[in-house]
Amino acid sequence: MSEELWLDDKPHEECGVFGIYAPGQDVARLTYYGLYALQHRGQESAGIAVSDGEHIQLHKNMGLVSEVFSEAVLVNLKGKMAIGHVRYSTTGSSNVANAQPLVFRYFNGMLSLAHNGNLTNTEELRDTLGRNGSVFQTTTDSEVIVNVLARYSQNSLEEALMKCMIDIKGAYSLLVMAGDKLLGVRDPHGFRPLCIGKLKDAYILASESCALDTIGAQFVRDVEPGEIVMIDHNGLTSFPVMTSAKRSSCIFEYIYFARPDSTIDGLNVSWARRQMGIQLAQEAPIDADIVIAVPDSGTVAALGYAAASGIAFEEGLMKNRYIGRTFIQPTQELRDLAVRLKLNPNQTVLRGKRVIMIDDSIVRGTTSSKLVQMLREAGATEVHLLISSPPVLHPCYYGIDTAEREKLIATRKNVEEIRAFIGADSLHYLSQAGMEKALGRSDQCMACFTGDYPAGCPKTSQYGVAQESCGGKV
Ligand code: SF4
Repeated sequence: MSEELWLDDKPHEECGVFGIYAPGQDVARLTYYGLYALQHRGQESAGIAVSDGEHIQLHKNMGLVSEVFSEAVLVNLKGKMAIGHVRYSTTGSSNVANAQPLVFRYFNGMLSLAHNGNLTNTEELRDTLGRNGSVFQTTTDSEVIVNVLARYSQNSLEEALMKCMIDIKGAYSLLVMAGDKLLGVRDPHGFRPLCIGKLKDAYILASESCALDTIGAQFVRDVEPGEIVMIDHNGLTSFPVMTSAKRSSCIFEYIYFARPDSTIDGLNVSWARRQMGIQLAQEAPIDADIVIAVPDSGTVAALGYAAASGIAFEEGLMKNRYIGRTFIQPTQELRDLAVRLKLNPNQTVLRGKRVIMIDDSIVRGTTSSKLVQMLREAGATEVHLLISSPPVLHPCYYGIDTAEREKLIATRKNVEEIRAFIGADSLHYLSQAGMEKALGRSDQCMACFTGDYPAGCPKTSQYGVAQESCGGKV
């Protein structure tokens, strides 16, 4: 993990997928717009694979969607269906070979795959496949899935995917395109989102409903955990394959990752964040003059807190939206400057005020301490930091980059010690029970708060030996 990517001290997004089956329409361009809407889920690489039912054309590269695709590229991507992907590297290194979609030639022709999530048994599968002669072009778990699928190529694509689901463990929302079929599948726990949309006769599969809105499609429903949906010339067919596991969709989609205008598994993200802010006001009432947010992900929770507490919401921190993805930060001085480039305190709003600052989470605490210092320098007389989620105590093995356990500040310090490190007058986290109460449900994965991993952990991961932080549950 390059340090500059930790500038905002947040867990990092995983990936976004978008697929469309629409004979006669400009599927590449619709996918391009869909990926634009999903750009927040991954900014390192982007790609689109287009199929005419036999041949698959692929264009992918490092960079934002707007950087990877030009008009000249899009007009040459012709077909009746397409899948697209935006990526932040959760497994495998950050290079174009690992960018997705992946395209392969297998026994039945060409196949393309786009994956959001992380498998937990990648190493075991790679070892078994390697011993049986598989060769790998990338270091991603997604290529392992393709190889498992290819082992069942004597079956139909949907049957192969059903068999593949028995072998692969962990988190996956997948799009697979081969022959005349576009398939979508969500792992049995439903860690990562995937929804179905319709645009006239065309079917769409997307990580978030905001991508459907962007192309003018209607939301149909979410793909259920453990379900395969198949789209072809007959329309959409559902195969509820592995539906007995406990639903455990990722709580962090609501806290931070997903766009506020998306609705996932029946909960609108903006509504969820507002409820968290309202609940936070009940758990941590503070006598203060103004409520401000760390924009953008803290904004809706701050509005909820302000509404529930009766304290005015003000724009105390202004976000520069034109900052590129990376900075060169060789010295501490430049790292401090980088935070100021991204977030600037509004002195007129803050001077002489007792301030409640709402953020969605703290990972390492480094950015929070700089922000508190900036608010004081801008004239705030008190700074109370309120977090609209519980302390992050455990790494994620299901497709989110949270940092190694020892780098999570809450594993090394208690709340009072974190407050002292950050330099706030007070620090409050939303309780786990309060989070469940705010959302009105308890069927979410909360492993990064609790250490209770619904699908176990990998034997090893990018964070080292994973079982140590997984209670040995594999
Ligand atoms: S461990 Fe945390 S970030 Fe990962 S899927 Fe579970 S809730 Fe989401």
